[in-house]
Formats: sequence, structure tokens, C-alpha cells
Amino acid sequence: MVEKIIIVGSGPAGLSAAIYTSREGFRPLVIAGTRGGGQLELTTIVENYPGFPEGIDGPVLIQKLKEQAAKFGTRFVDEDLTGVDLSKRPFRVTTGGKTYETDSVIIATGANAKWLGISSEKKFIGKGVSSCGTCDGPFFKNKNVIVVGGGDTAMEDTLFLTKFASSVTVVHRRESLRASRIMQERAMSNNKIKFVFNTTVEEILGNEKVTGVRLKDMTTGKTTEIKIDGVFVAIGYSPNTAMLQGKLRLDEKGYVVTKDEVKTDIEGVYIAGDVADSFYRQAATASASGVKCALHVREYLLRLDYENKK
Ligand code: NAP
Repeated sequence: MVEKIIIVGSGPAGLSAAIYTSREGFRPLVIAGTRGGGQLELTTIVENYPGFPEGIDGPVLIQKLKEQAAKFGTRFVDEDLTGVDLSKRPFRVTTGGKTYETDSVIIATGANAKWLGISSEKKFIGKGVSSCGTCDGPFFKNKNVIVVGGGDTAMEDTLFLTKFASSVTVVHRRESLRASRIMQERAMSNNKIKFVFNTTVEEILGNEKVTGVRLKDMTTGKTTEIKIDGVFVAIGYSPNTAMLQGKLRLDEKGYVVTKDEVKTDIEGVYIAGDVADSFYRQAATASASGVKCALHVREYLLRLDYENKK
């Protein structure tokens, strides 16, 4: 059997594509992954996804999107993608256990925030540690926080956080920032922001929630502990494109290169969400690109059907 549509990924991009294509009667198959849900699975309350004035927990939002897609006939395979062959038609998508053939593919494998890799970090996610200033900033009203990183994401998060926090300290491992000049200047001229250079975070401290950090001065090796309520890790993102290397055009950072927003060089293969987006990276924008893919795939399949009947 050849599937009409396979959607790889079960974050807001993949699930929004699934809702739209299943509602059109295409019964898409979603390769949801063994952990599924994408970055929202690691989030606590989401307050900026339209339609939820009280906010909604990330995993609950994913569950609701899944239910909505299933209601219209979406099928799910809770396995990880292990291979994809886009060189001939039908396309082939392989999970650990099986190879599926399909007329079209929507790739929505997302991106992951990079983490520092220290043991205390994961323990405090949602309890004072975050990788998204714009998502979690409002929870730190009148608190003292640090932002780790020296790029544009770090500066953007830092500036955003000053709207809520009493103080924001940027901790950067080198003596100069990587961020664009304008972002650096904005951050440097804001008196709520302090900079600590040549310094890394050695450990995040606390019991139930974050209460401090142990910092290490890279030049002297000296460690100091400071009291802090929140740690924002803003050291970049990596797109989940390992399986796509050599199959689709990727940019120098590994993101899929698209044209007309969601199209690839291969007709019938579309891209949704953060796997091609290093700029917006919002659940709502990921959903929107999933919807755009669904509309293109519908048009493509109707055309394919028409040509096959000729
Ligand atoms: P980035 O430019 O790669 O910067 C990452 C920062 O994190 C660097 O300062 C890096 O330090 C630091 N870092 C990396 N790994 C680390 C580790 N293990 N421990 C401590 N520090 C670490 O990433 P980004 O800031 O996410 O930006 C990505 C792209 O998006 C850039 O092209 C950026 O211009 C763009 N962007 C633009 C905007 C905007 O224009 N408003 C906003 C956000 C992002 P080093 O400097 O020492 O390497």
C-alpha cells in the first residue's frame, strides 16, 4: 500500500499539518517518534499560543492537537525515523521496524535548544531553568535571573527579560559577545543588565527550584556562588536534520533550505516548523507552516490524482 501523506514529527508543525490533511480525508500517517511532541513536551505553561487565555501546559497542548488530528482520521506510529529515500517515487520513509511508501512527505522534525550539559540543568527545567526567554520570561516578575550565551538569542532573551525581572545578568564564556552590534548596544545601554565575561556556569543550585548558580572564572579558575531565581540557557539551536543530509538542501547550520516558505527542490516534499526556521521558532509559527504544507500537499495530490487518471 502506498500512503498519500506521511508527516514526520509530532510537534505543533506536524500535528497542525495532520489536522488539516486529515480533515480533507487524506488519513495521513504521522511518524510521531518515541518521545514525540517536540520542544513543547519540555515546556510547562504556554501562554502565547492563541486560543488559551489561561495558558496551557505544553504536553497538554500536544495531546489536544493529537486528539484533534486523530478525530479526523490521522494515524500515528510512535517510532523514530531511521531513514528516508526521496530519490524516487513513491518516496520511502523508514522507522526502526518498517519501511513505508508514500506519495508525499511533510518533514516537521523540529529543532532542539542546545543545553550546557551539566547534570543539574535538566533537573530544574520548568523549575527555574528555561531555554526560551520569550516563553517563560513573564514567570520571573521581580526576580533575578541570568542568561547564558553571547549571541543574538541571548541578547534578545536578555532584553525581553528586563520587562519582568529586577535584574538580568549575562554570563558569557568569552570576553566579547557574538551578537550583532545593534543587539549588543541595546543590551549594554540597559541599566537592568549586567555582564559577566570569561565565565561559565559550573552548577545550578537549589532543592525544589533554582536558588543560585556556581560560576567559574575561565581566566583564574576561581569559582563563586551567586543567588539567582532563574537560568536562561540561550546558546543556540540544532535542527533535527541528521536523517536528511544528502537528501535535501541544508544551510551551513543544518537547517533545511526552503523556497516559497515550505517547498523543497523535490515536488511532493514539504517542510514545516523549526527544522527550517532559525528565526521565529514559535509554536504558533510552526503550526502556521504546518497548515501551509497541508494546503500545498492537497494541491499536489489532487494534481497527481488527475494526471494518473488521464
Ligand atoms: P549563536 O549565534 O550560535 O550564539 C550562541 C552563543 O552561545 C555564542 O555566544 C556561544 O559562545 C555560546 N555558546 C555556545 N555553546 C556554549 C556552551 N556550551 N557554553 C556556553 N556558551 C556557549 O546562536 P543564536 O544566538 O541562537 O543565534 C543563531 C542565529 O540566529 C544567528 O545567526 C543570529 O544572528 C540569529 N538570531 C537573530 C536574532 C535577531 O536578529 N533578532 C535573534 C536571535 C537569533 P561563543 O561566542 O564563544 O561561540
